[in-house]
Amino acid sequence: MGNSPITMEDQQTYLGVTFDKRLTWKQHIMSAEAIARRKLNITRKLAGTNWGANEKVLKSVYEGNVRPHLEYGSSAWFTAAKSHHQALDKVQNQALRIITGAMKSTPIARMEEITNIPPLSKRRECKAMIQATKYKCLPDHPMKERLKQLSSGRLKRSSFTLETRALQRKHQEHLPKQVYIEYPNGEKQSMAIPTGLHCSNYKAEEEALLHAANYIINNAEAHENIQVVFLTDALSVLQALTNNKLPQLERTIYSIKSLKTVVQWIPSHCGIIGNEKADKLAKEGATQDQEENAVSFTEMKTIIKSIHNTPQQQDSYHQLSRPEQTIIFRLRTGHNRLNQHLYRVTKVIPSTMCPCAEAEQNTEHFLQTCKLHLAQRQKIWDQPTPIKEKLFGCLEDLQKTARFVIETGTQV
Ligand SMILES: [Zn+2]
Repeated sequence: MGNSPITMEDQQTYLGVTFDKRLTWKQHIMSAEAIARRKLNITRKLAGTNWGANEKVLKSVYEGNVRPHLEYGSSAWFTAAKSHHQALDKVQNQALRIITGAMKSTPIARMEEITNIPPLSKRRECKAMIQATKYKCLPDHPMKERLKQLSSGRLKRSSFTLETRALQRKHQEHLPKQVYIEYPNGEKQSMAIPTGLHCSNYKAEEEALLHAANYIINNAEAHENIQVVFLTDALSVLQALTNNKLPQLERTIYSIKSLKTVVQWIPSHCGIIGNEKADKLAKEGATQDQEENAVSFTEMKTIIKSIHNTPQQQDSYHQLSRPEQTIIFRLRTGHNRLNQHLYRVTKVIPSTMCPCAEAEQNTEHFLQTCKLHLAQRQKIWDQPTPIKEKLFGCLEDLQKTARFVIETGTQV
């Protein structure tokens, strides 16, 4: 260009995402990992196991400063090999260990649960689904057609289209159900009903029928002397309806003021035996199903996010100070420096036995029965207290337990 020759490059960075020649995303993921690890070191300086910032502060530092690097552009590179993804997941696992002050052996799921930080893979799925929905909602994005086409299945490597379609199938029952109404005059109506988080497929189909029936009732004036045909491929819902197990749906359908109301089962995705009308309508429905999206992008985004989010559990653990949090979490998981665990994991000590020589030293023995700590136990709890209360009780219960551990001078 001008006087300088254009050189061949194997990779190019565009908007912060490094594209390599074969789209393996290795370069991009490696540099993202390196940046994230560097940032994670800041978090490490904020707390040790018995001093410093608590879980809430450390979590927001991680989510604000480190995680964005692990996720940037993920809807582009989420088709990369599993091993590349794992490199990033390892950074989050390390962050979880810093946030909870847990030992290296602690199961990742336990740390994810207490901090309510979801696995990165789950968040990547969520982002990809949102991205696919966005393409579908945009008026003329080139990807819109691609997502609709049937895949050829020749490509060995996974593609965005294939992956998001699989995700769509996986979460099918939580995504909004579509309802299509066609009137004799050819007028058509389509609606979608968000069926909520814990809605089964069966429940969703029932909801859809109910919604359609209600719609006809509310707009019945113009359509009073007509025949109404409900077509559904949910056989189980129809069976329940004939056995009087869905009174609400039954009542609603009965209250439609029409010449004749019919509920008919149609086999999904194949030719339909029945009257012409039904056939035509079902086909309409089947084609519309892919093309129109009655739910807006923002609504879909909220629904997809709600599928992937688990609400934070109520737990007094979150109000404790850093040293208390570390103690409680270690006692809860059993991954601590009491002899039973230490012997199993590291073998640096001769056996799992407690110094009192009466039993193995584990959380229960230490908190409840060990005679070496009898005095401190009686001082803190004036009566025998169940272990569940000591580990999962209210804020005061947890603080007592932490105080007991500190006063016995035992390292957990
Ligand atoms: Zn003991």
